[in-house]
Amino acid sequence: MTTFREDTIAAIATPIGEGGISVVRLSGSKAIEIADRAFRGRNSLASVATHTAHFGRFVNSHGDLVDDVVSTVFKQPHSYTGEDVVEVSCHGGMYLTKIILAELLDHGARMAEPGEFTKRAFLNGRIDLSQAEAVADLIKARTEAAQITSIQQLEGRLSSEIRILRERLINLVSLIELELDFVEEGLEFVTRSRITDEISVVEDRINSMIDSYGVGKIYREGVKVVLCGRPNVGKSSIFNMLLNSNRAIVTNIPGTTRDTIEESININGVIFTLNDTAGIRESDDTIENEGVLRTKAEIETADILLFIIDLSEGYTKTDSSIIENLAGVRERKLMIIENKCDLINGSYNEMISSGLRTREAIIVSAKTGFGLETLREKLSSLSANGSGLSDKSVIVTNIRHVNSLRDAHMNLEKAKLSLQGGCTGEFVALDLRATCNSLGEIIGEVTSDDILTNIFSKFCIGK
Ligand code: GDP
Repeated sequence: MTTFREDTIAAIATPIGEGGISVVRLSGSKAIEIADRAFRGRNSLASVATHTAHFGRFVNSHGDLVDDVVSTVFKQPHSYTGEDVVEVSCHGGMYLTKIILAELLDHGARMAEPGEFTKRAFLNGRIDLSQAEAVADLIKARTEAAQITSIQQLEGRLSSEIRILRERLINLVSLIELELDFVEEGLEFVTRSRITDEISVVEDRINSMIDSYGVGKIYREGVKVVLCGRPNVGKSSIFNMLLNSNRAIVTNIPGTTRDTIEESININGVIFTLNDTAGIRESDDTIENEGVLRTKAEIETADILLFIIDLSEGYTKTDSSIIENLAGVRERKLMIIENKCDLINGSYNEMISSGLRTREAIIVSAKTGFGLETLREKLSSLSANGSGLSDKSVIVTNIRHVNSLRDAHMNLEKAKLSLQGGCTGEFVALDLRATCNSLGEIIGEVTSDDILTNIFSKFCIGK
């Protein structure tokens, strides 16, 4: 059977565009032979040592010079993919890079699919599946927090924790199954209390990984903050105040042609996506208008809601009823922002003592910038920023991983029930094996083609 790994793949590994250099990458058993057909250096690439770079001329099939290049050779098995790899670095022109790729394809390479280099690294045992996914996350990381969690995963922190847990369970299953072979002799290789203890140790560790997903998701995807409130309370002004405080690192999110405006800021290494919404109105006639409907949709998907009050008007009836409704929104974190404090001078204390102000709120002035730092700090602490990054705990950032962990947990629960219900070892062993399989999915020890296709199709070509 011919496996796809027997052919040699090629792709441009650098972004398409003009730049100092571009890199065209080849991987497979004929990578060196194919590169040698176009490369004219002091020595043929077939004769050079692994992990060395060579200056030479890259020529087309007529022998005409295309570009001066540097070819770097990595011989199997110590390459990224585990196969022979050649990286041709040329001058970074779009046309030039494409010509070099086309020449290599003409010489027998096949165009790589998205993520195929990394897929080969996985299939050749260079990295496991969670590490392969970490490569994609690292490339996409927009903040320090995302970069640190991805590199930790790439280093194998999650994988080694999963392997340790699987090993513990496999040892336990082996003892239980051994016992089944000697059932007539009535031998006990592992006590029921030892099984219970082992299960609870594994369960604790699985639970803490599942719990870490909340933080992990924030590190990977950021926090969605929605600003809402009545018209004219200062939503847009606060939005701009937050953006301006971050001007140097503001990033535009493409594709946001809608009533709500979306921008991202970085606070202490976490991305906050701010959504400025249309005002929530009091009138029955306008309540159903498009903008308000969209505001509602934004509120539904927010991680943090900033509800803005205009202090010069105080808390109106509408404000109070909106707050009541928002406070009931499940799992959303609500922050009340009292804006325009510059307009109320000394009367604020009177407002507090009059009982008008009943909630913890952050007082700001979008006009003077008062309260900006407090607001940023509060956003940062609400997002659980900082927890878990510095210590040795594993942070799960990937929905696929957390789903497998949840399956593992469910199977472990079944094992516990079988044990408590006095079932024979056979049942307990079965549930523990299922737990091992769920854990195995994370690192790719147990996997299907569908899962692999799904994971690698999200990579860019050339990675
Ligand atoms: P939105 O409709 O809620 O987005 O409100 P805007 O941000 O458009 O602000 C409405 C009006 O209030 C504008 O004229 C702003 O200049 C003004 N405004 C916003 N924030 C402040 C503030 O902190 N102090 C003062 N004095 N005026 C403000």
